[in-house]
Amino acid sequence: MDVDAGHSAALGGARSTEIPLSRRLRALLSWPSAEDDPVTRLARTHRSIHPGADIAALRRSYAIAESMHRGQFRKSGDAYITHPLAVAQICAELGMDTVTLMAALLHDTVEDTRYTLQALTSDFGPEVAHLVDGVTKFDKAFYGKAAEAETIRKMIIAAGKDVRVLIIKLADRLHNMRTLDARSPASRARIARATQEVLVPLCDRLGIQKLKRELDDVVLRHLEPEAYARIDEFVNNRPDWEPYHNDVVNQARVVLRRDKIVAEVKARPRHYYSIWKDTVAGNHSVPFDLPRIAIVVDGPDTDCYAALGSIHCLWRPVPGRFKDFIAAPKNNLYRSLHTTVIGPGERTLEVLIRTRAMDRSAEYGIAADFRYPKPGVNAATSTKQLDWLRRVLTWEPDTIDGAQFLQSLRCDLAETQIQVFAEGRPIILPAGSTPVDLAYELGTDRGDHCLAAKINGRLAPLSSELEEGDVVEIFTESDAHGELDLKVAPPGPRREWLRFVKSPHAQMQINRWFAEHQEPGISISDKVRLGRATIGLTLRKHNRGLANDLPLRRLAEMQGYPDLETLLVAVVDRTVEPDTVVEQLIAMVDRPE
Ligand code: MN
Repeated sequence: MDVDAGHSAALGGARSTEIPLSRRLRALLSWPSAEDDPVTRLARTHRSIHPGADIAALRRSYAIAESMHRGQFRKSGDAYITHPLAVAQICAELGMDTVTLMAALLHDTVEDTRYTLQALTSDFGPEVAHLVDGVTKFDKAFYGKAAEAETIRKMIIAAGKDVRVLIIKLADRLHNMRTLDARSPASRARIARATQEVLVPLCDRLGIQKLKRELDDVVLRHLEPEAYARIDEFVNNRPDWEPYHNDVVNQARVVLRRDKIVAEVKARPRHYYSIWKDTVAGNHSVPFDLPRIAIVVDGPDTDCYAALGSIHCLWRPVPGRFKDFIAAPKNNLYRSLHTTVIGPGERTLEVLIRTRAMDRSAEYGIAADFRYPKPGVNAATSTKQLDWLRRVLTWEPDTIDGAQFLQSLRCDLAETQIQVFAEGRPIILPAGSTPVDLAYELGTDRGDHCLAAKINGRLAPLSSELEEGDVVEIFTESDAHGELDLKVAPPGPRREWLRFVKSPHAQMQINRWFAEHQEPGISISDKVRLGRATIGLTLRKHNRGLANDLPLRRLAEMQGYPDLETLLVAVVDRTVEPDTVVEQLIAMVDRPE
């Protein structure tokens, strides 16, 4: 290990008061050599995917992280550094770049040691610092109960600038979940549930199936240990399973070769969580799992349909079970053909068909852009999967507090989504959306002025629920003339829209319109509310928030206002600039004397 002695801004980690003798002995007995060097495995994985990678930078990050965390231990008794090292290893296996691995190694230093963000920035540069800051939790002492929600909001905003923040967070949670056994049953359940609610759906949106499978399974193991054990027992005790797969894989290979389609055919076992879900959904008394194979063609997209033809000639397809996610990709851009056939022995068999590129992005999702980088493309910000993230971030200025943001995020993540077509392109909306939701998705102006809609060529009420595949036309006041026989209604949205719109985006836009078109002569209580919101938004620019009014009250007092309300009204009337108030507030909180 090469500690770059002159480099670090602050060496020396927290001290632990009692280190068991056995651990001290172990530490004394282990002698550093090239083979036990803790970074060796990480470096090897990283180089196997990115041959030219800068390993010295990894070692430097490890050295700082190790020295800062020295003396800290995990609940399992392991030295703390084993955790960031494992997180970096997960990122390396996904194929992430060197900067991500450096940030993964350092991800807990700012939160848990006296290493500061400034020191990190000067030691490793702003890119690594941004990633570490994005996964650093807010202090409970300052933010109180709001800390958790504010932390998630901060992470999402940071991810909007650089998606690698989310990948580190997911790897962090995966390792914490793997090692959750050391925690109490109550905190295991709490952490597992939080993972299931927010991080698993986030992982799904980013399309990283490789991570999602393991997260799913480890959540299941902690939340439903008996069901997990039953599935484990079932999967490991079915002697006919492997021979059956060998047989179908061979038969498929033969027909594909005969039809001159170059492809790889493999068994594609399902993960435990997916078996469990199907078992529960179908009310089965024993775990329910169908044989499944994947065909990865080495050719253009059209080869997938040729392979499908060969398979349907070999085995009779089950009607209604064919899905074409190539023509209509899922919202996380997953692409593949799915079919179910009656295989040998009249057994139901599932077949996935995709190209090599589709297979890579199905497995690695957004991480594929780092694993297989394209020259001249900045994978951190350029991916199409980020469209969803950008949509989430457009709520941001409209949402006042973190709890509300988290609620909207949860809704959006839990929502099943549909795809409709408008203006000649596919548009993703939450299931249950109406033409008004669509209009706002097409643009604020289209939303504010929408008058009527045609669904699949027929005029339909604005409150109609849209369905998957609908072709929708939105008419606004300006295109209504001549086109439709409509009385022109007053401009702007109707209040009753709020009763049926589905997407948080449309809801907020409608509320915004009414807020902006309020009667003049705004009341004091409105000003107080507005002033508080203005301060909240200004704090957000500094990545800060307020758990309660206490610091603001203290500031109002210090600045000589009779009460907090007067200060808030002054902000709205612009007798004092919100930026000034926020600077004073931060200075007061950070330097309490
Ligand atoms: Mn961590």
